[in-house]
Amino acid sequence: MAVFVYAENINGVYKKAALEAVAYAKAVASQKGDTVTAVTVNPTDASEVLYKYGADKVTVIRDESLKSFSPKSYAQALNEVTDGSIIVFPHTTDASSVAPMLSVLKNFSLITNVLALPESLSPFQVKRRAFSGKGFMHAKADEAGVVVTVSQNAFGVKENPVSGIEEVKELSVSNDDTRVIAHEQSSGKLDLKEAEIVVSAGRGLKGPENWGMIEDLASVLGAATACSKPVSDIGWRPHSEHVGQTGKAIAPNLYIAVGISGAIQHLAGVNGSKTIVVINNDPEAPFFKAADYGIVGDAFQVVPALTEKIKAFKG
Ligand SMILES: Cc1cc2nc3c(=O)[nH]c(=O)nc-3n(C[C@H](O)[C@H](O)[C@H](O)COP(=O)(O)OP(=O)(O)OC[C@H]3O[C@@H](n4cnc5c(N)ncnc54)[C@H](O)[C@@H]3O)c2cc1C
Repeated sequence: MAVFVYAENINGVYKKAALEAVAYAKAVASQKGDTVTAVTVNPTDASEVLYKYGADKVTVIRDESLKSFSPKSYAQALNEVTDGSIIVFPHTTDASSVAPMLSVLKNFSLITNVLALPESLSPFQVKRRAFSGKGFMHAKADEAGVVVTVSQNAFGVKENPVSGIEEVKELSVSNDDTRVIAHEQSSGKLDLKEAEIVVSAGRGLKGPENWGMIEDLASVLGAATACSKPVSDIGWRPHSEHVGQTGKAIAPNLYIAVGISGAIQHLAGVNGSKTIVVINNDPEAPFFKAADYGIVGDAFQVVPALTEKIKAFKG
């Protein structure tokens, strides 16, 4: 039986998280000696995009009733077209709300926030992020099948081109009453969840008028911008930039935190980052314990100097 993967598209377009999930499914299928079937709903992108990352088959669901996202209806649709015992999802906000519903419909185990390839396939056992990213656990599936969500940026977007085939399924699943009425767009040019580099700032910046230097640093690095919760609560920055336990969880390759103390609730959303750089004028700031590199200094001096150095280096 093929390994299935939900290839999430945003307004028809496959983003990094979906491609990473397909690449992960391909690696699991290779362990099994099997193929990958990617399932997607009303895409505009061509299936070739998914073949490049290892999807041997792409099942395209066409369903007018799924034009607006509803976790329950998406789970029903996926239930109709999947018959494998391993179903992979990206750990995005929307996909993470469909995965548990599908696991219930199929009576499969659910393992979220998976970080690596399975240690064993029978029973399915895999390492996952736990306790808001403060620890790891090795989770074992009890049931005959398993639904997993892959933590973003944990496995990587790996190309594995195959000559795939496409199958179109016209469905009309009964819809439920839940509707997403609006998706908040991120304010920056780059999608925060997809960004490889994120420059983030907190209350240490004193006021919204000082964000120019954060945007300058982000601009030279090709980074997205983020902020701590109080900063978005006071309205210095939009809520779409709020990261942490109650905001977005991100895992970029590089996270630069400026004037952020490093409270546990903030770390919960960023501690999956591959490299963390902290700039803070308090050497006792808790964030330094989680940092790979730390600069003790005044952000108003350090950030512009850093931006100039990077500009000069790039030049
Ligand atoms: C249930 C709950 C959920 C929460 N969820 C989140 C969440 O999702 N995300 C989140 O971020 N927070 C969250 N919080 C809030 C969290 O506990 C902290 O209060 C918050 O993260 C602090 O934000 P901050 O670091 O920007 O501000 P502060 O704690 O005020 O820290 C400011 C930092 O800036 C430094 N600083 C000051 N001046 C300078 C300067 N000139 N140069 C350099 N550094 C300077 C200071 O030394 C200090 O470390 C949550 C709290 C609760 C109770």
